[in-house]
Amino acid sequence: MNKTKVIVVGQGIAGTMLSWFLYKEGIDFVVIDDNISNTPSRTAAGIINPVTGRRVVTVWMDDILLPFAERTYKTMADFLNITAISSTSIIDFFPNPFMKESFLKKISQGAPYISIIDEKNYFSEYFQYEFGVGKIAPAYIVHLQNLLPAWRQFLLKNNLLISSSFKFSELKVDKNQINYQNIAAEKIIFCDGSPGNHNPFFSLLPFALNKGEALILDIPGLPSDMVYKKSMTLAPFGKEGVFWVGTNYLWDFDDDMPTESFRKHTEEVLKSWLKIPFRIVEHKAAIRPATVERRPFVGFHPLYPHVGILNGLGTKGCSLAPYFAAQLVAHITQNAPILPEADVNRFARILSRTEIS
Ligand SMILES: Cc1cc2nc3c(=O)[nH]c(=O)nc-3n(C[C@H](O)[C@H](O)[C@H](O)COP(=O)(O)OP(=O)(O)OC[C@H]3O[C@@H](n4cnc5c(N)ncnc54)[C@H](O)[C@@H]3O)c2cc1C
Repeated sequence: MNKTKVIVVGQGIAGTMLSWFLYKEGIDFVVIDDNISNTPSRTAAGIINPVTGRRVVTVWMDDILLPFAERTYKTMADFLNITAISSTSIIDFFPNPFMKESFLKKISQGAPYISIIDEKNYFSEYFQYEFGVGKIAPAYIVHLQNLLPAWRQFLLKNNLLISSSFKFSELKVDKNQINYQNIAAEKIIFCDGSPGNHNPFFSLLPFALNKGEALILDIPGLPSDMVYKKSMTLAPFGKEGVFWVGTNYLWDFDDDMPTESFRKHTEEVLKSWLKIPFRIVEHKAAIRPATVERRPFVGFHPLYPHVGILNGLGTKGCSLAPYFAAQLVAHITQNAPILPEADVNRFARILSRTEIS
């Protein structure tokens, strides 16, 4: 029997961050991940946008989550010798005069992060636009396509990752011990993303899964140091001249496959927006682990105190995962409290009905 302290299920951005903070604290752990390609962490653009929605509202806990995320990605980048995060600006092309007006109104009210770009023709070499341009800064791009494989390689090299599918039928949860195959652990923490909706310990939680798609494009010549936004978002994706465009939010879906309708719609949008040629190289789709009240699920099960969760990151995994992974590890090491709005124990009554056969 191999002994460890924590089994982490999943190496998306949640499991990556959790295992990183466990590693930093010197806590023994092993990660189990099946490495499937169409997960949200392997599909996302990695954008951290400090404002949200048509009304340009500052995101939840921006002053805490964003600096914490930036610091964490930078520290990981140094450790792994990769680029994990870049600071950027989001160039917001107003789709109509009303959007410009409401942006200006927000600026006059002193809203942070947003400004107007006065120069009328700055982007006209690349884009068609009529109603001016706003700027959101600082924003960030997390380079998930660098970070996730680099951390996976580190874990594999140090015998800290089992590359296989986790099977609930082989899990035994006793009062003081977790057994999985030939591993004995003190705790197991599920960072399993949307499959968490069927996780026997946490399936009663109010998930509201949501499918999203993106195209990967070659756009030679388009400057790669900014994110561009109109009705869709166009973001640099790893290499010079390669871009990510998305996305949709489908609440009603039959599978996690890319759809023809998204591809066609996106092509039409791009043709009317971009003045320079583009080529589609890939079409991706994945299911976001969103939640009804748009807050994550963090902590331990009220009936099974050695079974934990870090999930429900919805559309904002890149900004939420670092902070709440760190909170969960501080909870394990120092019994530090988890933020009540994120603590899974806000659903203690619902979870107390969990039945494990
Ligand atoms: C199109 C799209 C665009 C997005 N853009 C952004 C963005 O720009 N910025 C942002 O912050 N967020 C974005 N998101 C949301 C973001 O991707 C998610 O919030 C985040 O990836 C969730 O991470 P996770 O680790 O919780 O889940 P996942 O990414 O699903 O990771 C779960 C991991 O667990 C593994 N796993 C699950 N079950 C098992 C099992 N039984 N055995 C072994 N392994 C298992 C999976 O293979 C996976 O590796 C986007 C999502 C989509 C779909």
